[in-house]
Amino acid sequence: MKVLAINSGSSSIKYELFDMRSCATLASGLLERIGDSAGRQSYRLHNSDGSIDEQVEDVAVKDHQAGVNRIASWLAESGAIGNASELVGIGHRVAHGGAEFTQPTVINEQVLAAIRRLIPLAPLHNAANLRGIEVTRAQWPDIPQVAIFDTAFHHTIPVHAHQYALPADLAQAHTIRRYGFHGTSHKYVSEEAARLLDRPLNEVNLIVLHLGNGASATAVCGGKSIDTSMGMTPLEGLMMGTRCGDVDPGVILHLTRATGMSVAEIDALLNHESGLKGICGDNDMREVLRRADDGDSQATLAVEMYAYRIKKYIGAYAAILQGVDAVVFTAGIGEHSAEIRERACSHLEHLGIHLDADKNSAEKQGSFAIHSADSKIKIFVIPTNEELEIAKQTLHCLGENPS
Ligand code: ADP
Repeated sequence: MKVLAINSGSSSIKYELFDMRSCATLASGLLERIGDSAGRQSYRLHNSDGSIDEQVEDVAVKDHQAGVNRIASWLAESGAIGNASELVGIGHRVAHGGAEFTQPTVINEQVLAAIRRLIPLAPLHNAANLRGIEVTRAQWPDIPQVAIFDTAFHHTIPVHAHQYALPADLAQAHTIRRYGFHGTSHKYVSEEAARLLDRPLNEVNLIVLHLGNGASATAVCGGKSIDTSMGMTPLEGLMMGTRCGDVDPGVILHLTRATGMSVAEIDALLNHESGLKGICGDNDMREVLRRADDGDSQATLAVEMYAYRIKKYIGAYAAILQGVDAVVFTAGIGEHSAEIRERACSHLEHLGIHLDADKNSAEKQGSFAIHSADSKIKIFVIPTNEELEIAKQTLHCLGENPS
């Protein structure tokens, strides 16, 4: 019983094939720079003894159709999919489900039309996701396909938290509200945290910090999202690699008046030139930390600002949750940077958050705890696995049982 998870970007397709009985990865890969003459593809076959055979090739892939065609051929040739009947479903990541998609949804023509209607809310992402779905359906017309929305986990955010203080009629007419993103990751690590706490998910309160290139914090109450830092778009909230996060909207008005910048220029500025990159010129946290270690003052400031914003959200979410069982760090920076975790949790003992420096700096695989014995609130590092969550939700949505 196999499920393929697909994440189609504007110029890339990432995929992972799972055996759903064991949740083991069987094959995975990435096609990059689709449409460019300098394309690249990597394939990984995950063997049952834990070893991985990897191939990387420079290859020009004309378009998404050609890309999915290659993936299908390789999955068949490598034996990862012996015969098509082993594949019970294909799950697609879709960035924006608007207010209408609150659950994984089997894809049909109406669902495709709805995803298309939502393109204005996430122009780059939804259009690319849609392209991936269309070509995958053409490739495997007989395999059921499911859309897994990044926004769905946040549909439980109450109206007082998802509404912006704008004229209500205008907001409604333009579907302006907080939707939140990274939902697949927040859901996956929340379930893992409940398992580590040995408590049912519907009894746990968590502050989940997804710190990757994009970053978001979520307040999880009884297993459900009740607030999250990203808003109508992924620009709001924490400071990110190249996105600004929270900024006074008056700054944008000021910029348009003072510089005459166009909407497209301001869009590029806030999405691609801000965040860590805006402060110190680098958007890769490893490089920013390395420069800060060497005494670079702008890199040091970027690190301080980044951790300060996380701390502010921890405080805000501790206030609204009225009791927190665990703070959870995930994604590239959350999983790997002891320094950012240490800075974000420092001086929070008055809230019951007490990090153990030795546990925090121990390099470990998998999930691990980094709080001290006397910490009221537990602190976990939990590797996210959005692809596995997509595959699990796909199977569940199709009513299939892995056992
Ligand atoms: P994406 O959001 O694209 O999936 P990731 O979750 O892989 O991104 O996170 C990417 C970020 O994680 C980058 O800023 C990278 O520098 C950072 N990162 C990865 N490993 C480390 C590390 N060992 N220390 C600090 N930052 C790291």
